[in-house]
Amino acid sequence: MFENASRTEVSLLGEFGLIDHIAKSFTNKQASTIKGIGDDAAVIDKDEENVTLISTDLLVEGVHFDLHYMPLKHLGYKAVTVNLSDIYAMNGIPQQITVSLAFSNRFSLEAIEELYAGIKRACDFYGIDLVGGDTSTSHSGLMLSVTAIGTCKKDQVTYRSGAKEHDLICVTGDLGAAYLGLQLLEREKKIFLETPGAQPDLEGFDYILERQLKPEARKDMIQFLHDNKLKPTAMMDISDGLSSELHHIAKQSNVGITIYEDKLPIDPIVYNNAQELGLESTTCALNGGEDYELLFTIPQSLFELVKNTEGISIIGHCTAAGTGINMVSKAGTQYDLPAQGWKAV
Ligand code: ADP
Ligand code: MG
Repeated sequence: MFENASRTEVSLLGEFGLIDHIAKSFTNKQASTIKGIGDDAAVIDKDEENVTLISTDLLVEGVHFDLHYMPLKHLGYKAVTVNLSDIYAMNGIPQQITVSLAFSNRFSLEAIEELYAGIKRACDFYGIDLVGGDTSTSHSGLMLSVTAIGTCKKDQVTYRSGAKEHDLICVTGDLGAAYLGLQLLEREKKIFLETPGAQPDLEGFDYILERQLKPEARKDMIQFLHDNKLKPTAMMDISDGLSSELHHIAKQSNVGITIYEDKLPIDPIVYNNAQELGLESTTCALNGGEDYELLFTIPQSLFELVKNTEGISIIGHCTAAGTGINMVSKAGTQYDLPAQGWKAV
């Protein structure tokens, strides 16, 4: 089918390049499509006052999860929460999910029940309904796709594109733990495969393991913003790592960004665990990913309101367009912050 076409490796474009490439060949036809490809969730006109938000994610065994250490119940829970996180990132409230599943006869009914026990737990905790999905056979491991549907008042939707010069950059919770949890699990898996019967040494690592295996979406923070009538100018969730997400906000909002290393929210437990695992906690916070915290911008006038709020850190500010994404290190030196691969010097 493709024999006459010249061949281009998808890796030349990268994930985001590919999405841009796909998006370019589609123009929206429906007046109700307010925002299509390019944010945490699509925004669809619903009625006079409200929009519908839709977000979807695909999880593939061996790529996004490893059943050597990921219990199925946790996988189900995580598959739901990471999608809800994208709805909250638009400042919305998730209401329904669909779940599509492909698996082989390697999985028993009991295994699938475990997976759905996790899905149910997330549905109950976040107050959402499972309203459909699809089921198929797979010849290459387990695949799980969740679509989340939510709602938001029209004037409350927050896009990645609304940040303005001088706005403050805020992050909820703390960063880097989920990545460390993954490194620990990979380490223990390797030891186990080399020495079958070896007992995993997970003592003292509860927090980073929980952040990797059972992440929560920040429903509470969206509630906080709502209660305080605090609407961010831009918002997204941190799934790929803070650096990568800062680049998205900067690009879509057409601003530069400066953050400060000493303002990064790194929990002391995470700092210590990183040292024990021979990793640099700043690098984990910047590039680790899977934190599912919220990254948002607010006007400087809201500084007083936010500065003493537990669970929100102000890590920097937006600068003029074209000034790049920079980080001022603890030593006071300013560095370019690439989307990935920043290294402490
Ligand atoms: P997130 O990390 O928040 O889940 P992604 O980086 O996965 O966001 O996706 C960014 C945007 O690209 C979203 O609007 C998403 O719906 C869209 N997107 C991703 N993959 C595809 C695809 N294969 N076809 C069309 N749109 C896509
Ligand atoms: Mg997202």
